[in-house]
Amino acid sequence: MNTYLRILTYAKPYGKYLPRYFVFATLAILFGLLNYALLKPLFDVVFEQIDIDEIEKYRAPLAFSLSLDYFMHTFNHYLLKAAETAGKMGTLKFVSAIIVGSVLLSNIFTYISNVLLSKIRAKVIEKLRADIFQKTTALHLGYFTNERKGDLISRLTNDVQEVENSIVSTLKVAFREPATILITFFLLFFISVELTLFTLLFLPVTGYIISEVVKRLKKKATEGQMALGRIVNILDEAISGIRIIKAFTAQEYINRVFGRELKNYSDISISMARKNELASPLSQFLGVLVVAGILLYGGNLVLNETGRLSASAFFTYIILFTQVLNPAKTISQAVSNIQRGIASADRIFTVIDTPPAIRESASAVKARAFEKELCFENVSFRYEQETVLNRIQLSLQKGKSIALVGPSGGGKSTLADLLPRFYDPTEGRITLDGVDIKSLDLQSLRSHIGVVTQESILFNDTVWKNIAFGMEDAKEEDIIRAAKVANAHDFIMELDQGYNTLIGERGTRLSGGQRQRLSIARAVFKNPDILILDEATSALDTESEKLVQEALEKLMQNRTSLIIAHRLSTIQHADEIVVLDRGEIVERGNHEALLERKGLYHKLSMTQMA
Ligand code: ADP
Repeated sequence: MNTYLRILTYAKPYGKYLPRYFVFATLAILFGLLNYALLKPLFDVVFEQIDIDEIEKYRAPLAFSLSLDYFMHTFNHYLLKAAETAGKMGTLKFVSAIIVGSVLLSNIFTYISNVLLSKIRAKVIEKLRADIFQKTTALHLGYFTNERKGDLISRLTNDVQEVENSIVSTLKVAFREPATILITFFLLFFISVELTLFTLLFLPVTGYIISEVVKRLKKKATEGQMALGRIVNILDEAISGIRIIKAFTAQEYINRVFGRELKNYSDISISMARKNELASPLSQFLGVLVVAGILLYGGNLVLNETGRLSASAFFTYIILFTQVLNPAKTISQAVSNIQRGIASADRIFTVIDTPPAIRESASAVKARAFEKELCFENVSFRYEQETVLNRIQLSLQKGKSIALVGPSGGGKSTLADLLPRFYDPTEGRITLDGVDIKSLDLQSLRSHIGVVTQESILFNDTVWKNIAFGMEDAKEEDIIRAAKVANAHDFIMELDQGYNTLIGERGTRLSGGQRQRLSIARAVFKNPDILILDEATSALDTESEKLVQEALEKLMQNRTSLIIAHRLSTIQHADEIVVLDRGEIVERGNHEALLERKGLYHKLSMTQMA
């Protein structure tokens, strides 16, 4: 229930539409029911039951007032006139015309109220999607494991869709259907108190049975969404890994895995459908039972107890009553939809409520321009149990460069990730000019740091936008200058539409080196004090490596950099080389000194030369 209310709070800013909605929905219901109520005079005319004497009292028109009395009186007044002046056919025409008019009005009001609701619905969903996406981009890096990717996408798409369906159905149902039932019962009481009391005995039994069916649905709904998440996951992996799947001839294998998940999901769907589909025929059957009961009881009143209920009133009653069944059915369906919607909403709110692992301190201050040195003071780190970094002591002076080398899995990337606070050290601290980076405003800390990684990540947008990533009002000449520094300007100019070329699907037409030079241009454009290069050249062939390496060197000029490198040839000129092995610094010094030591660095460089 809490979840449901929480979704409703998303509709709060649009509450201003509600009063209008209530007015139009009520009018729609009233005019909708009116044409059924008008059946009684119609029957009276057709079955020649108009008792002129009885309607004689309506001869004098009544002064206007907003009451049932006035409307009844006025209707009968004109009915009487029609009967006297135009005879039976005239009366028939009069009643028919009023029925047509009321149906038309009812539909117009239904239309207006539905449009209002759709507006609220669209806005609610827009806000929910924005919220979950915003939260997703704010989550700490450690959250995005591969298993979670598909699940997250599924939550953003399928679950939001599911909530959308449940919200529409409830918003509509929450007011209109109960109001319809209420007003109908009011009319039913008006026709016959006795018969209506009898009817009311039946209804709770019907309602109970239906709600029992619905209750059992919720658990299955959750399982269903989870299964869907796994399906999206496999899809995502298969598409991004299609090359590997083909190369390892694993098509059949992956098809089987996918098939198993599909079967699992369809099993759950079928089992859900068994219960879901039961609700409708069951309620229909129970509805008919009730109608049959009323037929018997009411028919008895008409046949055996003359004067208590006229035949035309009885017909009208039955027809009006069948109008209660539809909203009742809609309500029961809505309740089952809500259950599914809530299962989905819970999954959405779990993401929205995930506490951020990287917190900004309440008294965070803006990082000032970097002036002296960056220090790792006794820093240790664990992802889970295992220590990945152990008591790292490192100091990087402004304008200098440190290269991190060592066997893979040694903790180099992890160490670099600590600097922009993608993770926080488990022990120890990192300081920027003596200030613990934890006490700095995250945004300002990260604005001092530029990153170029092994995989050049480009977005489906123009070259302009990819270089000036995240900056809406970047100057053209700054972008071009950055591209020139990154040795990217020439090849960009050769693209179909130069800087306006869309990367993205066509991005694959760029070579690895070109993509990497765009990434470097992005870093140049950001103009950070501190640069992290994480294996920035290791994915390239020698030819493009030369161009990229040159671009990197220009990028590193006058900057402080932390370079992670696999190929030792690229970092020989670093001011200090730090060899990391299993989370510990095992050697440090410059290239020549380290070679002389004949330790791990020497060994690594020998293997690479061979
Ligand atoms: P390197 O960059 O030197 O190759 P990494 O920093 O990537 O080393 O990894 C260091 C260790 O941390 C490895 O044992 C790796 O398995 C582990 N590791 C890396 N990322 C994660 C993660 N997100 N969760 C758990 N363990 C991780």
